[in-house]
Amino acid sequence: MESKYQYFNIGDFRCTLFTDGKHAYDNPGALLFPNAPENELGKALIQYGISIDKWPTWVSDYTCLLIDTGKNKILVETGAGEMLPEAGKLVCNMQAAGISPASIDIVLVTHAHPDHIGGATLFPNARILMNRKEWQFWTGKPKLPRLSDDFQKLLTGMVTTLLKPLRKRVELIDGDTEIVPGISLVETPGHTPGHMALLATSGGEHLVYVGDALIHEIHVETPSWSPIVDVMPEKSVQTRIRLLTEAAETGAIFFGFHMPKLGRITSNTTGFKLLPYSSEVVEKKWTST
Ligand SMILES: [Zn+2]
Repeated sequence: MESKYQYFNIGDFRCTLFTDGKHAYDNPGALLFPNAPENELGKALIQYGISIDKWPTWVSDYTCLLIDTGKNKILVETGAGEMLPEAGKLVCNMQAAGISPASIDIVLVTHAHPDHIGGATLFPNARILMNRKEWQFWTGKPKLPRLSDDFQKLLTGMVTTLLKPLRKRVELIDGDTEIVPGISLVETPGHTPGHMALLATSGGEHLVYVGDALIHEIHVETPSWSPIVDVMPEKSVQTRIRLLTEAAETGAIFFGFHMPKLGRITSNTTGFKLLPYSSEVVEKKWTST
């Protein structure tokens, strides 16, 4: 049985990770690490038990975060909604944990890709927060020269079917913003022009939630390997290094939408490393439904 949610604390903030499901992506080497030298990528993959010649698909987790501050229930990412049959399970998994979608008062989407905004309409009482630059990019004429025609069509189609219908409910954020005491959105451009990450601090503990600034654990050690889906690949390298540096300096819990294992970042002269997070603050309260 697969675990559907997991609790942990950041000081006084009660955090819950919910899976929205998984999705299998074809040709993962070209998707995640298109500029990686093949021999180096092969070595990096071996650490994960993957042979570069036999890596036909990458099965990615979709992971949403709920932060309950005591005053606010803040949901970060909304999953794929009805877009993919094997995902869109966020609401069901929240209900299994006793959380009503109507109780969520703030929804944050780090960026406007369909796996992040697909479920945004499912939280009737929430303010939906998004970076103004993100809204403007997608509702303008987005240029996506690194993507195949089919992928471009999928993303621009999403603007009509998912994004524009949200307009009346979306509050556009300008620049780095503290949304409630201790929880800030920070501009982290690269994956998309208006991508935002979330930093949380409470009781001397820190969280760095990276959204899609890092998509695979290998990006921790090789932040210069920009995925093909990064709209601004050079910018995304700078953003990854900035987030990794922040997490290493603060000792933050670190994870992302597609890399849900909680970790901590260490750094030395050779670069960054992701250490598994195994602390007393993680309640061993995984559940199966
Ligand atoms: Zn994503």
